[in-house]
Amino acid sequence: MSRALRLGVLHGDGIGPEIVGAALEVARAALAAAGALPVEWVTLPMGWEAIRRGDAPMPEATRRALETCDGWVMGPHDSQSYPPEHRRGRAPSGELRRHFRLYANVRPARTFTGLSGRSGPADLVVVRENTEEFYADRNVVRGSGEWMPAGDVAISVGVFTTDAAERVARYACELARRRRRRLTIVHKANVIRLGMGLWLEACRRVAAGYPDVTTTDVLADAMAALLVRQMADFDVVLTTNMVGDILSSVAAELVGSLGLGASLNVGEGVAMAQAAHGAAPDLAGRDAANPTGEILSVAMLLRWLGERHGDPALVVAAGRIEAAVERAFAAGTRTRDLGGALGTRAFTEAVLAGL
Ligand code: ATP
Repeated sequence: MSRALRLGVLHGDGIGPEIVGAALEVARAALAAAGALPVEWVTLPMGWEAIRRGDAPMPEATRRALETCDGWVMGPHDSQSYPPEHRRGRAPSGELRRHFRLYANVRPARTFTGLSGRSGPADLVVVRENTEEFYADRNVVRGSGEWMPAGDVAISVGVFTTDAAERVARYACELARRRRRRLTIVHKANVIRLGMGLWLEACRRVAAGYPDVTTTDVLADAMAALLVRQMADFDVVLTTNMVGDILSSVAAELVGSLGLGASLNVGEGVAMAQAAHGAAPDLAGRDAANPTGEILSVAMLLRWLGERHGDPALVVAAGRIEAAVERAFAAGTRTRDLGGALGTRAFTEAVLAGL
């Protein structure tokens, strides 16, 4: 890349500032070690930080500033805790996913040497459609996509479009081609016949254009059981928004802990790194969070940027981060969620040492 990268930083709520801080520290060290051009990090307010300043959880100014960035690193948000007037609209992630058309949420889950998960050796990637389905606050132009016709009746709509299904399916097929060439489409089209039926047919049509990728489809409830029973069988798992949210948490926990869950939200020209888990308010400010998910999310962002801009130094930096995390686990370094004693800081120091 011939110019400095410009990357946004949104710390978020709960454990966000701690894990984003850790991920940035690791990223800076890896970029320097890989000889990458200096990165311009642009710190922007969101969530409670923005609310305290009298702004919306996703301020217009933050969104505008992100439009000038090549990508960004985002912490989780604790939107459940926002004042009622800030809970009506979309949550900060939903707002950005929609505004920047971040159509694919890519969530890898794999076992690490020395870290005994509950699954046996496994290495899969959940590719989750990121803009539609039952997450109602992401569906509509105005309103929330949910309403209550009576005090004891609530209606939540799900949206499925061929365009969104085809787009995310193409991403998943291309990814499968670069991995073990196995694609599993997960759906619930036997019950949600029109919506998920349309979604499934669109995914099947796209997959038919990739004869080198072996494609099967599985019902979402069966998939939950199969993940627990034989996670190693799966390579790329393509699924809808809410189903992907749930299955990726199951997958992360099976390989060790929710705290390991990395994710990249991918759009046409921009990407957002954000750990797959939430703000974990129970751990906030206590140096108790596992920063691995956020650290590996930033590695995913650097690799994506490196491949997109043809900058090998960024890909090298991503590889160094992943190797340092692997080394830390292989050496027995453990945060509390993994049965160890280390806090966020001490674990980050171990990863930095491994770089
Ligand atoms: P969201 O809906 O925003 O994804 P959630 O309700 O699924 O959030 P999380 O905040 O993701 O909930 O986490 C649930 C619990 O898992 C937390 O309360 C915490 O105990 C544990 N947890 C989540 N992330 C981590 C982490 N990085 N390190 C350690 N424990 C974590």
